[in-house]
Amino acid sequence: MSKYIFVTGGVCSSLGKGIASASLGALLECRGLKVCMVKIDPYLNVDAGTMSPYQHGEVFVTDDGAETDLDLGNYQRFTYSNLTQDNSITTGQIYQSVIAKERAGKYLGKCVQVVPHITDEIKRRIYMLGEKEDIDITIVETGGTVGDIESIPYLEAIRQIIHERGRKKALSVHLTLVPEVTGGEVKTKPTQHSVKAMREIGIQPDVLLCRCKHELDMDLNKKISLFTNIDYDAVLSAHDVNTTIYEIPAIYHEQGLDRVVCQKMDIKKTRGSFSEWNKLTNRYKAAEKTLRIAMVGKYTLLGDTYKSVDEALVHGAMNNGVKLEIVKIESDQLEDKDDLTDFFKDIHGILIPGGFGDRGIRGMVDTARYARENKIPYLGICLGLQIMVIEYCRNVLGIKDADSAEFNPQGPNNVITLLEDQVDVTEYGGTMRLGGSFTHLEENTKILQAYNKEKIIKERHRHRYEVANDYKERLQEKGLVLSGFTPDAALVESVEWTNHPWGVSVQFHPEFTSTPLKPGPLFNEFVKASIKKI
Ligand code: GLN
Repeated sequence: MSKYIFVTGGVCSSLGKGIASASLGALLECRGLKVCMVKIDPYLNVDAGTMSPYQHGEVFVTDDGAETDLDLGNYQRFTYSNLTQDNSITTGQIYQSVIAKERAGKYLGKCVQVVPHITDEIKRRIYMLGEKEDIDITIVETGGTVGDIESIPYLEAIRQIIHERGRKKALSVHLTLVPEVTGGEVKTKPTQHSVKAMREIGIQPDVLLCRCKHELDMDLNKKISLFTNIDYDAVLSAHDVNTTIYEIPAIYHEQGLDRVVCQKMDIKKTRGSFSEWNKLTNRYKAAEKTLRIAMVGKYTLLGDTYKSVDEALVHGAMNNGVKLEIVKIESDQLEDKDDLTDFFKDIHGILIPGGFGDRGIRGMVDTARYARENKIPYLGICLGLQIMVIEYCRNVLGIKDADSAEFNPQGPNNVITLLEDQVDVTEYGGTMRLGGSFTHLEENTKILQAYNKEKIIKERHRHRYEVANDYKERLQEKGLVLSGFTPDAALVESVEWTNHPWGVSVQFHPEFTSTPLKPGPLFNEFVKASIKKI
């Protein structure tokens, strides 16, 4: 039967609970335990699919096609946890199923209430995950901050689980902020209050992770321990790192996080090996050259919008022994410019990621042209493929009004059209082509080489539009390589330029499966090709 670790946050949001939870998962896996990662999002949306990237950052897509919070991406990158629809719990889903049961008369005339019906449904979902596939530890991260109105039912469910299972089988890890005020003085009061807020709910945290600028000094750990009833060796410093987030598991390990957790939960597993993680980060720290990749997209000003793409580029850079700088450019800044040289003068590779809507499209088309004509390595992802095809049609095939039905529904030359099964779709939530599916790769292509000659690959999708089949032959005649197709050959999945060092685009999202220990093949090859430009 699985044991449970509940990770909660205090003081304020965005402290890095996702990375902390994922790092804990990685450390427990290094000790030979089988881990299941779960994210709770206390909002009323059923999933993250309908949320604006401006508000909520990237939408992460699981293999089974769930549109989830980007923290599942952190879990994917740090752990081997199987991530499905069930590993992402939202208040929208909980209420949807309780209300459906109520409408079906399943509550036998009872008054349906937050406690016990909502809390029971939360517990049912959590227990169901822990009971799957011989899981040793289920790590449940609750979004938001203690004190938020929205997270109260979840904290109540967690309190009940800790009570039902006992502390050896259910542990509370709390992440708080230890700020530095003017003059560099470090303050523990917000942390004391945050733990107090947890205790008022009935949960005594067992482990405390203190987010701070610089490593906490021992006296402060002692003070925090005294005021919070948390053992001294279970109060850990979660200080900022300035190299890569992949160093965080090692930082926690050095302070004994996995040892403390295993002791508290009576888990007897041999000491694990962390050598792979250490090798990886040491190599990155030792890298001398810096690779500069321009990412030309729509929501580039926000840090988390293309989180998985950013990380996949880091994986490629780590694997190829270079440091990475991602230069984010809002594509509409590039529109109506005679020459883009100034924007790209120090750039070694160009990437156009996924996106929706027509703003900034002209700037992306000009970017693809610039990369093609100036022989700069180019990776197009989803929208980035559609842009590559539109650009090729306009500037090589001479179809000046080539467009996508997404931006110009009545366009006479829509080389990108709506997928057949999308024509009658009217609802937005969960209705795109979503999740993992297979692509057959063609012989003698760069993509086949990237995937190490694996002819059939599986990657995740999230789109409504595709390359129009009417234009396929003309594109091929003029030298665009259609390098990958769906197994039934009905849809184009990847294209590439000829007479170009490396220009590859894919309709799927290779970023969702890339991890530091196993970088996405396309990112690895794109980085390799771009390094030649340094
Ligand atoms: N908007 C495009 C489509 O729906 C591309 C989607 C994406 O880039 N994820 O097909």
